[in-house]
Amino acid sequence: MSNREKELIENIAEVKDEVLNATARAGRKPDEVKLLAVSKLHAASDIEILYRAGHRSFGESYVQEALAKQEELSGLDIDWHFIGGLQSKKAKYVAGKFSAVHSVDSSKLAVLLNKKAESLGVVQNVFIQVNTACEGQKCGVGEEQLPAFVEEIMELENLNLKGLMALPPFFDDAEGARPYFARLRMLAEGMEKLFGIKLPELSMGMTGDYRVAIEEGSTMVRVGTKIFGQRPGYN
Ligand SMILES: *Cc1c(COP(=O)(O)O)cnc(C)c1O
Repeated sequence: MSNREKELIENIAEVKDEVLNATARAGRKPDEVKLLAVSKLHAASDIEILYRAGHRSFGESYVQEALAKQEELSGLDIDWHFIGGLQSKKAKYVAGKFSAVHSVDSSKLAVLLNKKAESLGVVQNVFIQVNTACEGQKCGVGEEQLPAFVEEIMELENLNLKGLMALPPFFDDAEGARPYFARLRMLAEGMEKLFGIKLPELSMGMTGDYRVAIEEGSTMVRVGTKIFGQRPGYN
């Protein structure tokens, strides 16, 4: 086994252990939380190592990079998730290629994803990225816009709204993120009541704070650095 294989397999085992422990501590069932290994800016060969070791779900953030990896690993039955910011003009490359798009944050993007999904004859699972914290529009839909946006997505027949996603600000102490996670869960419950729908998934929690996110109800944690190490280059 190469050093990289050893490192990745050890790292993911540790994260899986901690996910299970946090899930149990929160009094939740082991299968309630899915681990997405966030492989952005890491080599396709890293994904393949984890796949061979039994892991299936991966998160990617950059369209071109993600599609190139999908092509390279096309023989593998990978559960791909798109988690990064997505420009609406790139919706057509993404629809139908990922188990879920976690970062839907504008009507324009939703409409274009729906259009492409319709033309492919598929239903695309999506999350609404909610801006629970940061300034500007890069980081999700504002809370005030959420009800109208949920309603809009419900009307798009080739999108299936699975839940909400958020990226809270970074805190040195993960406890700082807790109120943002709790808030996202509350918003999801509010939307369920308001529209009489089910939003079963909450995509929240990263390397620094996934344990806290699980305690606050996360069903999908997106962990990169703790599995793959520092990302090369930026981000
Ligand atoms: C990069 C990224 C992650 C993973 O972050 P880590 O801190 O490396 O675990 C999670 N979610 C999103 C949306 C990301 O872009």
